[in-house]
Amino acid sequence: MSSADRAFASAPQGVRLHLGDLEIEGLSLGGLETTIAVPKWDLCFDVGRCPPFAVKRSTILVTHAHMDHAGGLAYHAAMRDLLGLQPPRYVVPRENFEAFNDLFDVWRRLDRSRLPCEIIPLSPGESVSIGRERRVDAFRSPHRVPCQGYALVSQRSRLLPEFVGLPHGRIQALVLAGTVVTEAFDQIEVVFCGDTVIDVVDREVAVRTARVLILEVTFLDGKVGVEAARSKGHVHLDEVVERADLFENEHLVFTHFSQRYSTQDVHAIIARRLPPRLRERAHVLCP
Ligand SMILES: [Zn+2]
Ligand SMILES: [Zn+2]
Repeated sequence: MSSADRAFASAPQGVRLHLGDLEIEGLSLGGLETTIAVPKWDLCFDVGRCPPFAVKRSTILVTHAHMDHAGGLAYHAAMRDLLGLQPPRYVVPRENFEAFNDLFDVWRRLDRSRLPCEIIPLSPGESVSIGRERRVDAFRSPHRVPCQGYALVSQRSRLLPEFVGLPHGRIQALVLAGTVVTEAFDQIEVVFCGDTVIDVVDREVAVRTARVLILEVTFLDGKVGVEAARSKGHVHLDEVVERADLFENEHLVFTHFSQRYSTQDVHAIIARRLPPRLRERAHVLCP
């Protein structure tokens, strides 16, 4: 067992959800911390306090610079260095690129260490390649500070419709004869919006069509109303229910609940308030 494995073996885990062939592991509580790992892609969305399961992930996609989403970045770099893991890659909103570089420079001075990492600026509308046939697209999530969501996109190929159902031998013969039988297409596997108002659902087709949508729903009932939720830059459950017909996703993961709600409250309110066509696809990521 490596030192990294030993360090992780006894560490507290996040909440794990199995969504078809995809697993996610996360911790997310409004104002406290948000870190959501997608192990299959070796990445995390945000790193609020850097739980141990995040240290294993080599790429962090930072949605915005609120402390509960980005406070664990330098710690993440330090832990990976300590454990001898490959230097991490941090994708950050372009408007925060310089400030994040400054932050790392200050930590290097204080810690007298190299903190090896690569910081990549990305703007809404831009993409970054993340391994073979995989890329990350950024889009704007309206929040109180500059924020962007991310779509994990697999670049795949499929048979053109006119060849679907043909015997394998026939397709092979067509390929040998030089016929193009496949087309490339993008599969949006996962979308995470970060902190946002509901408008992101109306504006971004990737949000509505990703196989897995991870959406913050900070407020769930009359404890904080819809207008107050909007003014804080967050989503209210009422706004999700109003848009039930818009979501084409296979799985919807709701998260980032206000600390006003216990875990039991969250499950009970979501189960009671979601219409059946959403409830049957809904999951709760709540520590
Ligand atoms: Zn937040
Ligand atoms: Zn925020």
